Amino acid sequence: MTIERTLVIVKPDGVKRGLIGEVISRLERVGLKIVAIKMVWASREQIEGFYPSNPDWFKSVGNKTLGSYKEMGIDPKAELGTDDPVEIGRLVKKWLVDYMTESPIVLMVVEGNHAVEVVRKLVGSTLPYKAEPGTIRGDYSVDSPDLANREKRAIRNIVHASDSPEEARREIGYWFRENEIYEY
Ligand code: GDP
Ligand code: MG
Repeated sequence: MTIERTLVIVKPDGVKRGLIGEVISRLERVGLKIVAIKMVWASREQIEGFYPSNPDWFKSVGNKTLGSYKEMGIDPKAELGTDDPVEIGRLVKKWLVDYMTESPIVLMVVEGNHAVEVVRKLVGSTLPYKAEPGTIRGDYSVDSPDLANREKRAIRNIVHASDSPEEARREIGYWFRENEIYEY
């Protein structure tokens, strides 16, 4: 079965810039189906619970940050006071909570053939300055980790999309009850 569901969130920068419709159009244009949708002004606790809190996740996010520092020739210790990937991952998570609670967000469940992979492709790279033109992040943002980390905030990249079918199941279950998701 290749019909999948994935979670898409229009993040506060997307909502405030009036890009909700644009994000939805791009998903609908390829034939994906919105099967649930709502606007929520999430609490810090809700966002803390949404992004994982296990050392592996912190480490993976921290290592990505370390990788971009290395590429830019920036010393992580001088900039953030640590070069431990888990510590850096925790820091990024705090910035993410600040970001995701600064305005309402729009949550949707998107269904279709290979939905998880197709949506990630439409969304583009986590790092907007590297995201291809034609992707949502590549067309609407030029943010980068060096700038975001220097300003001690999360990278502003318009949308969230689940990374794998397992992540999608957990994330959809976190925000939606089964009776809020429609079959049509
Ligand atoms: P995604 O699945 O492409 O959204 O990326 P991740 O799951 O790795 O990270 C979650 C979110 O954290 C990203 O969308 C960014 O908003 C933010 N983020 C990720 N890596 C970094 C980083 O190195 N620095 C900063 N400041 N924010 C980051
Ligand atoms: Mg992710």
